[in-house]
Amino acid sequence: MIASNQRKLRPGDTIGILGGGQLGRMLAMAAARLGLRCQVFSPDPDSPAFDVVLNGTCAEYADVEALELFANDVDVITYEFENVPSAAAMVLAARRPVLPNHKVLETTQDRLAEKDFVTGLGVATAAYADVSSVASLREAIVRIGLPAVLKTRRFGYDGKGQAIIRQGEDLVRIWADLGTKHAILETFVPFEREISVIAARSADGAVECFDVTENEHRDHILKVSRAPAPIPDALAAQARGIAEKIAHALDYVGVLAVEMFVLANGSNGPAVLVNEIAPRVHNSGHWTLDGASISQFEQHIRAIAGWPLGKPVRHGPVTMTNLIGDEINDYEQWLTVPGATVHIYGKGAPRPGRKMGHVTQVSGPKTG
Ligand code: AMP
Repeated sequence: MIASNQRKLRPGDTIGILGGGQLGRMLAMAAARLGLRCQVFSPDPDSPAFDVVLNGTCAEYADVEALELFANDVDVITYEFENVPSAAAMVLAARRPVLPNHKVLETTQDRLAEKDFVTGLGVATAAYADVSSVASLREAIVRIGLPAVLKTRRFGYDGKGQAIIRQGEDLVRIWADLGTKHAILETFVPFEREISVIAARSADGAVECFDVTENEHRDHILKVSRAPAPIPDALAAQARGIAEKIAHALDYVGVLAVEMFVLANGSNGPAVLVNEIAPRVHNSGHWTLDGASISQFEQHIRAIAGWPLGKPVRHGPVTMTNLIGDEINDYEQWLTVPGATVHIYGKGAPRPGRKMGHVTQVSGPKTG
C-alpha cells in the first residue's frame, strides 16, 4: 500500500475528489485558482461539482473497476463527505495517497468510536452510552438521566437519525422509530451557544485554525455562522487547542471542523464540550471564502498538495447565511444587498432542508 506520505503536487497535477456536492464544487474552484485540476467521483449524475471540473466519474462507491480507473487518473485523493465507504477508501489507498488517511473515516463515521476517541484525548464531551436495544436504552437513561438525545451511530447529519427523549415518553416507540440497532444516548446539553473550529493541518504537522465561529441552527440545520464568535479570548484559545489536539492525534492532513457546545458560566465543569468532528471542509467555514485572505477550501487544497498552509487573516466581522430550500428563490434580492456575496450551488429543484446556496457579508472596519 502506498503510504500517505505526500508527493508535493505541482500546478497542472490532478486531485481526485470523492463526493460531488457543494463542498466538492468549492474545493475544485479553489484548486483551479491554484492551477490544480480536479476529477470528481460521485454516484449522482446531477452532482453540482461535475459542473466545475473537466473530468467526472459517475459510478457507485462499490464499483471497484471505476475506483481503480479514477485512481489512475489522479495524483492524490481526498473526500468532501465522511460517509465514503471504508472499502472504497482502501481500494483507492492501495493506488494513490488518500488524504486525510482512511483511519480518520473509521473514527468519524461512528459516533461511539468518535466520542471514545475524543474522551481518550482527555477532551470533554456530553456524557454518552452505547445503546443497542430497548433494555440498554433504559439502562442508559438511568445512568445519563433525562432529557437526553438518542442518535444513530452512523449516517446521521443535520439532525437526521436523532430523537430527544423526555420524561414519560414511549421508549419502545422511540427505539422502533430510530430504525437501527446501533445508537448512542447523550445528555441533552443546555448549551449557551454552539461554536466550531475549522483547522488545517499539513503533513509536517503545522496547524492553522480560523477564528472560532458561532453557529445558529434552525430545525437542526445550520442557518447562520458568525466569525468571530462572541466568546472570551481564553475560551477561543481553548477551543482552537482542542481542534489542534484532535488534528494531531488523527495524524490529519487537510481541513477538519470540530463542533462544540459552550456551556453557561458558573458551572465547575468544562467550559466547552465537543459534539462532533467533521473530517472535511465544513458549512460553518464558508465565511472564509469572502471573509478571510485564504478560504478553508484553499487551506485543504494546500494541505493535500503538500504546499505550505496560509496564515488566514479575517477581513472583519463576517456573517454567513445559508439559503435553504425555497430561500434560494430570493437570490435576486440578495444580489442587490450592498456588501453581500452570493454563492449558488447549482443544484436542481429546492427541497425543504436542502442547502442551495449561501451569502457572506463582511462588515468592514468602521470609518469616520
Ligand atoms: P449533530 O448531528 O450531532 O451535529 O446534531 C445536530 C444539532 O442537534 C446540534 O448542532 C445541536 O444543535 C443539536 N444537538 C445535538 N446533540 C445535542 C445534545 N447532546 N444536546 C443538545 N443539543 C444537541
